[in-house]
Amino acid sequence: MTSEVDFEVGIIGGGPAGSSMAAYLAKAGVSCVVFEREIFPRPHVGESLVPSSTRVFNELGFLEQMEEARFPHKFGAVWTAANDDRRMYDHDWEGLEPDCRADLRFEERMQEGITQIYTYHVDRGKFDNLLLHHAHALGAKVYEGISVQGVDFSDPVHAAIKFTMGDQQLSTKVRIVVDATGRRTLVGNQMKWRIKDSVFDQYAIHTWFEGYDRRAMAYRDGLSNYIFVHFLPITNSWIWQIPITEEVTSIGVVTQKKNFATKRESRERFFWDAVASRPELYSGLKAAQQLRAFKDEGDYSYAMRQIVGDRLVLIGDAARFVDPIFSTGVSIALNSSRFAHKDILQALESGNFGRDAFHDYESTIRRGTRNWYNFISVYYRLNVLFTAFINDKRYRLDVLKLLQGDVYDDDEPEVLTRMREIVTEVERNPRHVWHDALGDLTANAFVTAAQV
Ligand SMILES: Cc1cc2nc3c(=O)[nH]c(=O)nc-3n(C[C@H](O)[C@H](O)[C@H](O)COP(=O)(O)OP(=O)(O)OC[C@H]3O[C@@H](n4cnc5c(N)ncnc54)[C@H](O)[C@@H]3O)c2cc1C
Repeated sequence: MTSEVDFEVGIIGGGPAGSSMAAYLAKAGVSCVVFEREIFPRPHVGESLVPSSTRVFNELGFLEQMEEARFPHKFGAVWTAANDDRRMYDHDWEGLEPDCRADLRFEERMQEGITQIYTYHVDRGKFDNLLLHHAHALGAKVYEGISVQGVDFSDPVHAAIKFTMGDQQLSTKVRIVVDATGRRTLVGNQMKWRIKDSVFDQYAIHTWFEGYDRRAMAYRDGLSNYIFVHFLPITNSWIWQIPITEEVTSIGVVTQKKNFATKRESRERFFWDAVASRPELYSGLKAAQQLRAFKDEGDYSYAMRQIVGDRLVLIGDAARFVDPIFSTGVSIALNSSRFAHKDILQALESGNFGRDAFHDYESTIRRGTRNWYNFISVYYRLNVLFTAFINDKRYRLDVLKLLQGDVYDDDEPEVLTRMREIVTEVERNPRHVWHDALGDLTANAFVTAAQV
């Protein structure tokens, strides 16, 4: 059967989505090729994983390499707010007690298919390179430094992936195309499926520091290797603090477009001003050495009208991007391969390459990203509610389940429904003790994309 085509499956993009897809398919004996535009290793944002990633590493036989690479173990997450913001957390309501800090350990809730009580923070240059090599070792053909220009779907028997090599225009025939091009969304753009998120217009500026003492923001022992999310006094803005090695820490400031200056120097000033609103963090970073130039990421949230089509599957960021507040991206990328490769194997067996062949993947990943999206929306709208739920025995494990990345089995988890009900109540009642704590993003505004 392979004779009519060069490969059964052609994957565009070799980030976590593309390389995990290639690894799953190669492991199942399917001939597949990955075209990656860059030469790895290359830097990339998105360095803190959630535990549902570990399930994929397990299935792909990749855990040993994660350990050998000595990526920092991530046991949990911490959220902190500035002292000035304390008064926002003073009001209890119906037994819910918000706090200006909260933390969670993954081991508090067991997860099916996962035996470790931690996941990882990663240097993406190194991690992506290892995973791509793993796919290659399992039998996938990998080409780096090849930028794909588009895909021709006009032939009924195959799709042709088009790229240039040197000054030659070439194409490769495949039965199924997987778009894993990340936020470039190559084929999604070609199809005109992309819908910009009109609510989340977040921007980020980030870099690495060496010698920052992570204990500066830890309020008790044992927290310094967690991810920290520091809320800022500016609405909808926060800072990530992610361990990269024992010595190196990634720091990023996320904010809305309106706060983000167009000039680079002003952006860097904004980074330091934001950090200065948390004095312990500021003095810790000023005493450390900045290792890389600042990098920014702009206006990144969007959805797709369709994520599958005839002979076509979009995975990872190419299928949707939701705000990174809960470190979701890599886990979604890996799990989209976990779900989609099953439909692809089935399609290759049955010979049905129509859109309906990829329906199970589409509905599962949409359910998961919709749950993430709703959770994120509630979080931005009323973040006192988030710490109150974490600190409440009734809800803690249900919130943890979401934060572990187990978001694919329920259409709307009960805990999310409850959160949304409370947000609606607070929105409607100007005298509610939490009314003044409402953020200015509207929780239910991006209905079109949230529902797709
Ligand atoms: C500010 C910010 C913070 C984030 N923080 C986190 C975090 O803490 N944790 C987390 O899990 N996620 C985080 N993310 C999200 C994370 O970066 C992504 O979700 C993740 O990288 C998605 O993987 P992917 O494989 O889909 O895409 P990518 O990792 O972007 O990989 C896509 C690959 O496709 C290649 N490519 C693109 N176009 C072409 C082409 N035409 N031809 C060939 N190759 C092509 C690219 O070179 C790239 O290597 C963050 C994102 C942002 C913006």
